[in-house]
Amino acid sequence: MERAVWRRPAAHRVSRYRAPEVAVARHPDFYQIDEMLTAEERMLRDEVGAFVEKEYLPLVPEHFERGTFPVDFARRLGAMYLLGIKYEGYGCPGGTSVDYGLVCQELEWADSGLRSFVSVQTSLVIHPIHTWGSEEQKRNYLPKLASGEMIGCYGLTEPDHGSDPGAMTTRAVRDGSGYVLNGTKMWITNGSIADLAVVWAKVDDTIGGFLVERGTPGFKTVEMKSKLSLRASVTSELIFDDVRLPESSRLPGARGLSAPLGCLNEARYGIAWGSIGAAMACYETALEYVSERTQFGKPLSAFQMTQEKLTWMLAEITKAQLLNLRLGRMKDEGRAHYYHVSLAKYNNVRTALEIARTARAMLGANGITLEYPPMRHMVNLESVLTYEGTHEIHTLIVGRQITGLDAFR
Ligand SMILES: Cc1cc2nc3c(=O)[nH]c(=O)nc-3n(C[C@H](O)[C@H](O)[C@H](O)COP(=O)(O)OP(=O)(O)OC[C@H]3O[C@@H](n4cnc5c(N)ncnc54)[C@H](O)[C@@H]3O)c2cc1C
Repeated sequence: MERAVWRRPAAHRVSRYRAPEVAVARHPDFYQIDEMLTAEERMLRDEVGAFVEKEYLPLVPEHFERGTFPVDFARRLGAMYLLGIKYEGYGCPGGTSVDYGLVCQELEWADSGLRSFVSVQTSLVIHPIHTWGSEEQKRNYLPKLASGEMIGCYGLTEPDHGSDPGAMTTRAVRDGSGYVLNGTKMWITNGSIADLAVVWAKVDDTIGGFLVERGTPGFKTVEMKSKLSLRASVTSELIFDDVRLPESSRLPGARGLSAPLGCLNEARYGIAWGSIGAAMACYETALEYVSERTQFGKPLSAFQMTQEKLTWMLAEITKAQLLNLRLGRMKDEGRAHYYHVSLAKYNNVRTALEIARTARAMLGANGITLEYPPMRHMVNLESVLTYEGTHEIHTLIVGRQITGLDAFR
């Protein structure tokens, strides 16, 4: 099968955010992994990196403090073909899994909230419609989701059912030619700013997916405040109270729990790359800080204990970079299984969190402020460790693969 390549539409070529003519190493690349990327992949990464550095990063502290997400970025990301990047047709550019990974890495280098927005739109909303939707659903929604004209959200988790979504109580009951939907979803990224919700519910004797538009009678969203993590991202409760839905709102090809879990697998893959973007931002900040700050008459970077920390961070980042690229190539060849993705999420998010904590400490008191990114990344990564399958759930997935024994129950 011919591998899809990132096709750069004409408008993209004249983007203001040109990659520098001579590549500047923005990130640590100790093993020259850059050489293993194509010129197109490097260009995509550098353009996205330059965009977030110039346009998004300066806004993050304020949005983080206020607990808001800059909604206008939906269309800006869409204009750069970054929503639904690995899907073909219906307004999606037809890139690869490696393209998607590199985009996630660059977005999360700035903030996990921005990467979360793109993960949800791409892997949790565009993916199920593209994979299991009817032709009418694809034509109606995908071009608007890919352009950012429409924002999507994904409702699987419930107040009483998180790691065990198969036990969900949200139910769609057949009524005439349609359904009546009742239930509550919780912790839903983009919920209050979304135009369209992909909602998973028990229906007949299986689990089905439904597309519920904002404004449908009986459907309301409530934003969840007081978060200490992912503050520059909107998280909401979705409430369905006798919501009447036509048959045409159901994803015809999605039957059973494997459908929502398939979406999560796609998002987890992007998270494996994204979390290392956050780790690189922390490493880069710590390295710059310890090189400039002097204590006891010499730069902090001259102390052995500081060098030990930097060496450990670089080693972990390098291992994760290799892991991500290998996983991405396997995915593009159709050889990556869900347990391969689980191992990457398991390893990379925990590693990124430890790197963020270490970097925070290396900055001393300055490390606790919003002026420097490590503590913001650190608290964000606490959510990343929990969502899309907690660290423990990925441990169990890989453990089952190793032993052949299911330790979930
Ligand atoms: C900021 C944020 C955004 C989110 N966005 C979305 C979204 O857009 N859509 C969506 O559907 N959900 C979303 N979630 C929800 C997320 O997917 C769930 O929080 C996650 O699946 C865990 O569920 P829970 O919080 O109910 O924890 P629980 O399932 O109650 O788990 C609590 C603890 O018990 C552990 N545990 C559970 N079962 C086992 C076991 N068998 N063995 C060992 N340990 C176990 C877990 O690992 C965890 O440490 C989001 C969450 C956050 C924090």
